Amino acid sequence: MLRVAVVGSGPSGVYTAQALLNQSLVPEVRVHVLDRLPTPYGLVRYGVAPDHEKIKSLQNSLRAVLEDERVTFVGHVQIGGVGGVPPARLAELYHAVVYCVGAAADRPLAVPGEDLPGSWSATRFVSWYSAHPDIAPDGFALEARSAVVIGVGNVAVDVARILARGADELRATDVPRAALGALAGSRVREVHIAGRRGPSQARFTTKELRELGALPGARVVVDPAELAMDPAYAAQEGLPLPAVVRRNLEVLRGWSAQREASVSDAVRRIRLRFFLRPVELLERGGRVAGVRFARTAPDGAGGVQDTGAYEDVEAQLVLRAVGYRGVELPGLPFDPVRGTVPHVAGRVLRDGVPSAGEYVAGWIKRGPTGVIGSNRSCAKETVASLIEDAPLLARRSAAEDPLAVLRAWGLRPVEWDGWLSIERAEAALGRSLGRGPVKIPDWQGLLAAARGEEE
Ligand SMILES: Cc1cc2nc3c(=O)[nH]c(=O)nc-3n(C[C@H](O)[C@H](O)[C@H](O)COP(=O)(O)OP(=O)(O)OC[C@H]3O[C@@H](n4cnc5c(N)ncnc54)[C@H](O)[C@@H]3O)c2cc1C
Repeated sequence: MLRVAVVGSGPSGVYTAQALLNQSLVPEVRVHVLDRLPTPYGLVRYGVAPDHEKIKSLQNSLRAVLEDERVTFVGHVQIGGVGGVPPARLAELYHAVVYCVGAAADRPLAVPGEDLPGSWSATRFVSWYSAHPDIAPDGFALEARSAVVIGVGNVAVDVARILARGADELRATDVPRAALGALAGSRVREVHIAGRRGPSQARFTTKELRELGALPGARVVVDPAELAMDPAYAAQEGLPLPAVVRRNLEVLRGWSAQREASVSDAVRRIRLRFFLRPVELLERGGRVAGVRFARTAPDGAGGVQDTGAYEDVEAQLVLRAVGYRGVELPGLPFDPVRGTVPHVAGRVLRDGVPSAGEYVAGWIKRGPTGVIGSNRSCAKETVASLIEDAPLLARRSAAEDPLAVLRAWGLRPVEWDGWLSIERAEAALGRSLGRGPVKIPDWQGLLAAARGEEE
C-alpha cells in the first residue's frame, strides 16, 4: 500500500489525487488531501468569480475525486509556517508528499503610495467577495466614486466586472452577505482598467472581455486614439495575428466606435485604457486619491517606452491586478526569483538533487499561468515521476493511521463530513436570506458549521 499526502485541495491537488487513482502500476494507493482551510477546491471556491457559474460548477468533478473511497479530505491542517506541521514531520507519516499549495500572493507594483488606504491588491478584493476566511467580511466599504484597476489580464477584468455589476445580479450567487451589502451600496460610477502596453498585448481572453459589454447599466469606453497607437491594430489586415488578439481587437474596435454621448446615460462606465504605466499613487487626506501614469508608446521592438508625458486619473479605490506569485513554505526549497519550488518533472530539488518522496504540482510548480485544466496535465507529469519512484518510496516507513497521529499532535482536522456540514449550513443561511447557498466568510463560522455547532 502506497500512502500519499497531497497538500492543497485546489485543482492541482485534486487532479494529483485523480492521477494517482487512475494509474495502474501501483494498485493499492491511499491519498490524503490536506488543506489549511476547512473547505476544499482552492481558487475554484476562492478565486473564480461568483458570476461564472459554469466554471464554478467544476467543483462537481473535483468533488467526485474527493469522494472516492481511496481518498480522504483532511481540512484545517496547515503544513509549514507558524503553528503548521513542518514538512519534515509530515514526511514521516507518508511514503510521499505532493505539494499543491498554489501561488496566491499578489505581485507588488513597486511604486510610491502603493500602501495608501484605499489601494488594495486584487487578490484581497477577490478573497473578500469570495468569502475567504483570512479576509475580514466587512473589509471593503465601496464609498469610492472612481476606481482604477491596474492590469489587463482576466483577474483585472473579473474585479472590474464585479465592481460594475449591480448587486441585484449577484444576489443569485453565493457572494457573502457583507460583500453583497457593500456592493449594493457602492457609489462607484467609473471603473478604469489600465495597462502599460497596447491592446494587442493585453492578456484577457475574448469571452471575459466581451462580458464587460453585456453588463446591464454599464457601458465600456475605449479611446480610438489609444487603439490606433498599437502597431498590431494599425496593421490588423496585413499581420497574421493570433486569433485571440484579433478577436480582442475587434471587440475593442466596436466599443471605440461608440460616441461618449451614447454611454453617458449608463449607471457605470468601464474605461479600458492602454499605454499607461503607473508611477505613483496620489494621496489626499491620508488616502489614495488617484493614480499618476506615465504615457508610454511602442518602442518598435515589441515593448513600450515612456514618452515623457503624464496623466493623472482620479480614484478613491485602486486595485492592483498585476499577477500572482508563490509564497515560500518554510521547510521546502523555494526559488524567490520565479516564486516556485525548484523541481524536475515534479520531483522537488533540494540543493539541486531530487529529494526522495517530495513532489510539486500546479501553480507552485510552474507559476501562476494557464487555466484550471492546465493543472491536470501538470499533475499527471508529477504523478508519473512519483509512480516511477514507487519501488523506492515503498521502502520508506509510513504511519498506519496518519490522521490519528495528526490528532495526537493536537490538530483538529475537518474531514469530508465536516465539509458536507459546512455546505448544509451555507444552504440554510441562503434559505434564511431568500437566496441560494451563501458562503460563510469567517473561520469561527466555518469551524462551527463543520462541527455541526450552532453559532
Ligand atoms: C482571481 C482568479 C480567478 C481565476 N479564474 C479562473 C477562471 O475563471 N477559469 C480558469 O480556468 N482559471 C481561473 N483561475 C486560475 C485557477 O484558479 C488556477 O489555475 C488554479 O486554481 C491553480 O490551482 P492550484 O491547485 O495550483 O492552486 P490553488 O487553487 O490556489 O489551491 C491551493 C490550495 O492549497 C492550500 N494551501 C496553501 N498553502 C497551504 C499550506 N501551507 N498548507 C495546507 N494547505 C495549503 C490552499 O488553501 C488552497 O486550497 C483564476 C485564478 C484567480 C487567482
